[in-house]
Amino acid sequence: LDEHPFPETATTCPYCGVGCGVLARPSADGQRAEVRGDAGHPSNYGRLCSKGSALGETLTHEERLLHPQIDGKRASWDGALDLIADRFRDAIDTQGPDSVAMYVSGQFLTEDYYVANKLMKGFVGTANIDTNSRLCMASTVVGHKRAFGTDTVPGCYDDLEEADLIVLVGSNLAWCHPVLYQRILAAREKRGTRLVVIDPRRTSTAEDADLHLPIRPGFDVRLFNALFHALATSQARDDRFVALHTSGLEAALEAIDTVSPSDLAAMTGISDKDLATFFGWFIAIDRTVTVFSQGVNQSSAGSDKVNAIINCHLVTGRIGKPGMGPFSITGQPNAMGGREVGGLANQLASHMDFEPDNVSRIGRFWNAPNMATRPGLKAVDLFNAVADGKIKALWIMATNPVVSLPNADKVRRALDVCPFVVVSDVVSSADTVAYAHVALPATGWGEKTGTVTNSERRISRQRSFLKPPGECRHDWQAICAVAQRLGYSGFDFASPADIYREYAALSGFENNDQRDFDIGTHGNISDRDYDALSPFQWPLPAATSPAGKLEGRSHRFFADGKFYTPDRKAHFIATPFRPAQSQPSDDLPFILNTGRIRDHWHTMTRTGKSARLSAHIAEPFLEVHPDDAKAIGVEPACLVEARNAYGIARLRALVTDRVSKGTVFAPMHWTNRFSAKACIDALVAPNTDPASGQPESKHSTVALRPL
Ligand code: SF4
Repeated sequence: LDEHPFPETATTCPYCGVGCGVLARPSADGQRAEVRGDAGHPSNYGRLCSKGSALGETLTHEERLLHPQIDGKRASWDGALDLIADRFRDAIDTQGPDSVAMYVSGQFLTEDYYVANKLMKGFVGTANIDTNSRLCMASTVVGHKRAFGTDTVPGCYDDLEEADLIVLVGSNLAWCHPVLYQRILAAREKRGTRLVVIDPRRTSTAEDADLHLPIRPGFDVRLFNALFHALATSQARDDRFVALHTSGLEAALEAIDTVSPSDLAAMTGISDKDLATFFGWFIAIDRTVTVFSQGVNQSSAGSDKVNAIINCHLVTGRIGKPGMGPFSITGQPNAMGGREVGGLANQLASHMDFEPDNVSRIGRFWNAPNMATRPGLKAVDLFNAVADGKIKALWIMATNPVVSLPNADKVRRALDVCPFVVVSDVVSSADTVAYAHVALPATGWGEKTGTVTNSERRISRQRSFLKPPGECRHDWQAICAVAQRLGYSGFDFASPADIYREYAALSGFENNDQRDFDIGTHGNISDRDYDALSPFQWPLPAATSPAGKLEGRSHRFFADGKFYTPDRKAHFIATPFRPAQSQPSDDLPFILNTGRIRDHWHTMTRTGKSARLSAHIAEPFLEVHPDDAKAIGVEPACLVEARNAYGIARLRALVTDRVSKGTVFAPMHWTNRFSAKACIDALVAPNTDPASGQPESKHSTVALRPL
């Protein structure tokens, strides 16, 4: 008999885009939390990785922000909210709606995201609200829309278990999406799936691969263009699919600079033999999934990289079928939910863009007095506008941009000169809180309730099982309270269920073409059904009851060959090669790559509390190739300084041939809170993809010297 005093609550892990189901409860003594994997959740079937299984260790009240603060001093909620509303009202009235901005987060629940976007885009009248998801997968959004007409992930996790060839591009899945990787390995045991990893580094994932292609950084488009050309002239070309369901093939092929195999090898840094093996497998194996992540997205050519990959699947007709398709895997737990409710500055809710019909439709649904009619500033541009004095009031929620944005020291300087900064956070020691005129204590995982959407479009509930400490409030409550003080109606939500109902109804409002994101039948879901909602993927079949019947169902799009472009065909996109924006020089000879490690998350405000997680890798480091280390006199484990025009970092040298000569790698997690000059994003160049605005976090240039 289970004599535990607390029942288990089914919720979802707050870390990566796999979206694992978790069963959680307070421990019997009430001092900690206990977690285990939810065997009934179709994302993980009970598995959890090191980060997920250590969730209970991160829920301490140490360093929690427990009360509102004004200028660092304790204040009342009413005082803080009144001040925020006054300062935003003053800026809007005197300088116009574009003088205010919000910067939010893929850590938001969908309900938080929805009200933040409703406030800014419908009532304040500006689209100056962007999200740290811009750093994560904005390039994929552009690639999907250009090819499919909508931002739709075609496949599902089951495809990874039904594939015979999985190509992982710019993804250290073993560390960054461990449970999905475990599912792939388990399937590989049974069906002998071949695994190809395309990554400049020899990561843990690459070590497991049947074929590792250590590509020269930035050359993915060259590689996939050559593969596209080879597929188009091979037996793998699906003429019927191309003729019936696509357009633009010839133009896309003509845009490719064809190169000889030996030139391609020289350009990409991959041997002729390995290229031939890869191309041979891709041509011969029908059931192929290409999984891509930040190594593709975080690039000044990220959108083109995505389309170069999609082109290869379209020319072979390998999309919308079991075990086939291009598959974007998101970094954050709710990057997809944000995309659904207009989280990006260039989107409106329900995946709509700023076409006049869409603006009108959403404006009528919201009864909005002041709809934004054009896209707002994307993350890097938004903080440039702060630095230039154009943003007079800024609200940052659930993210730590002074650490995570490129050119991070400039972001600090920008916040220093911004007349009014509000920061909503869980942790008082989060680096950005130091720049807040008003700091609002937010509820965290275990205390919040709402929905998130994972990488395969599966919407799951996050449910609370802990009482919020101190005076912490939910982010949606703070946003609604400010909206009401600004005099706006339509923000009297009583609960996350209320917000979800409105969002669901909006997705179905005048949506006569039944686009894939329509969950309009949930527009009148009861509180009880919302609370009981089982994980489900969109689109939501009209005939299915609102709750409880969808668990385990997997869905893939485009099985009927119909896409959401005006001609209902998938579009090949021409992707001429463009080199990365920063190129090595005599002064800055090394290419800097940044990324995650296995056991930490973002800027470590949560995982840094777990001794177990911190034991895996205890301090920040810089991977340097042995030949480079010798040439510049860097000894293993000594301190090394990396610098460029943007900033300086001082890190422990990890001398290893995991990185290729001329490149270095540093993890993104550590901040100057841990040790001075530990923040690697201070050196990341603020170069962005012109189509997506996503920063090129994998390709800056630096000089090194031993300390
Ligand atoms: Fe959480 Fe991702 Fe690990 Fe699953 S794989 S437990 S979602 S961090």
